[in-house]
Amino acid sequence: MNDTFFTAASRPFSVGLTGGIGSGKTTVANLFAERGAALIDTDAIAHQLTTPGGAAIASIRAAFGDGFIDADGAMDRARMRAHVFADAGARQRLESILHPLIRSETVRAAGEAHGDYLIFVVPLLVESQQWRKRASRILVVDCTEEVQIARVMQRNGMTREQVQAIIAAQATRAERLAVADDVIENNLDTAALLPQIERLHALYLSLAKTNRAGHL
Ligand code: ATP
Repeated sequence: MNDTFFTAASRPFSVGLTGGIGSGKTTVANLFAERGAALIDTDAIAHQLTTPGGAAIASIRAAFGDGFIDADGAMDRARMRAHVFADAGARQRLESILHPLIRSETVRAAGEAHGDYLIFVVPLLVESQQWRKRASRILVVDCTEEVQIARVMQRNGMTREQVQAIIAAQATRAERLAVADDVIENNLDTAALLPQIERLHALYLSLAKTNRAGHL
């Protein structure tokens, strides 16, 4: 984040929402948005950067070559995923292109957001020192690994082993819970989520009001 936006005096109240793959981050974030929170989805921002005409395409082409840009002008996601999975240096190069752009775009989106408070959806929040410091409060969407596996197998048509490999590459459930200010348990259905959402939304509204710059 850039410091002009996130200096302590001017920082709006923000929630950093995270959780493992398939935990229900998007589902939960949308329920807060329905109640008036402004959502900023860092995954969607990262994705846009690598679509045709996206701000990262020229740098990715320069660093990795034409072979990583498909005929439409988007990053070839499958090829890049395989490449950075096998090569830590390549992963660092890609991150050094994407991370500053994600940061500046996130700051821009936050500046334009309208809502009672901000929710940043950050899948890898626990893995990022920066995010842990910047969000006013960290909300973890938690569920069992079995529930994650079942959801992602069903949603993406992946095998159990594929989902397990992604889970293994992310922070553990315990690591996430260790940094959480708030936890939403999402092992069941939407009905089980609603009382938890209502309670936290009321809390966030009151914290946003007492925050020095709580109005956006
Ligand atoms: P990813 O990290 O893969 O983007 P996510 O954490 O954003 O996932 P969602 O996309 O919200 O998770 O949920 C994963 C899948 O599980 C979706 O198909 C969603 O509809 C379903 N799901 C999540 N929570 C619930 C729930 N409480 N009731 C019913 N379905 C749910």
